[in-house]
Amino acid sequence: MALIASRLSRVLCAWVLLVAGCSVASRPPAPADSAGRLRLVATTTLVADLVRSVGGERVTVQALMGPGVDPHLYKPSIGDVIRLDEADAVFYNGLHLEGRMADLFENMRRAGKHTYAIASAVPPDALLVKQDGMPDPHIWFDPELWGMAARGVADALSRLDPEGTDIYQRRLVAYLADLAQLDEWTRTELARIPPQARRLVTAHDAFSYFGIRYGLEVRALQGINTAAEVGTRDVQQLASFLAEQRVPAIFVETSVSAATLEAVRQATLAQGWQVQFGDVLFSDALGAPGSAADTHAGMVMHNVNAIVAALSSTPDLAP
Ligand SMILES: [Zn+2]
Repeated sequence: MALIASRLSRVLCAWVLLVAGCSVASRPPAPADSAGRLRLVATTTLVADLVRSVGGERVTVQALMGPGVDPHLYKPSIGDVIRLDEADAVFYNGLHLEGRMADLFENMRRAGKHTYAIASAVPPDALLVKQDGMPDPHIWFDPELWGMAARGVADALSRLDPEGTDIYQRRLVAYLADLAQLDEWTRTELARIPPQARRLVTAHDAFSYFGIRYGLEVRALQGINTAAEVGTRDVQQLASFLAEQRVPAIFVETSVSAATLEAVRQATLAQGWQVQFGDVLFSDALGAPGSAADTHAGMVMHNVNAIVAALSSTPDLAP
């Protein structure tokens, strides 16, 4: 009975953390599970994949959000709060990607929970700042920024688990080498898209880092945050751009509703240009476990193949 009461009080306290903060005593350095592994919780599938890649066998990582979940709109459930409370440490993207969890992270920090925003390893002057003054959180689409985040994760894991430092550093070096290869492959593949078709149009503005790095003009119906409203004017403006530039394809994302882009397709048709849908892209969430897009590298490769396929077959675009 006492055990149940203690657990209930802990859960209640965790729930209170969500809204008002709670006076929980500071925790000691991270303990581990019976196999000696750190029990970590990550917010998105991308953050979980990075922490898993660097942490290897010394960690278990649970992602709160699954495939296809939009982190901008995600509200934590009471089950999530319990998982966060029970974790040795919590990893999240930061830069307001998990906009509705910000207060929770702050309160957890105040309560002594180990929390780490992976984007904090990227210097502010390396970030894109959008019209509304907000930094662009989609750092996984630039291998250099993602590499900085990986270094930060290795350092954070080493602080939590000093005995694992050598392993984390070795895994980091291997991860960075893979990232460099992926960068090279991406550049080579995207070079196949004709100059007049190098325009990437998606539902929300997740691909700016990607566009800058690989020389694609990027347009989106929504800004960097999917919580923003989409108006008829936004749809018409994007449709005009697509018709004027004779853009061959636009792309739906797995974590964003396809309805608004369908409206754009219809509006473009009304302006006399038939724009196609390319294969679906992964922007803010990985693919299902076991699919080809269930890792960061797999997701990038899927996206690149989809973009090249849709933008390269443009017989009507001959100058
Ligand atoms: Zn996003």
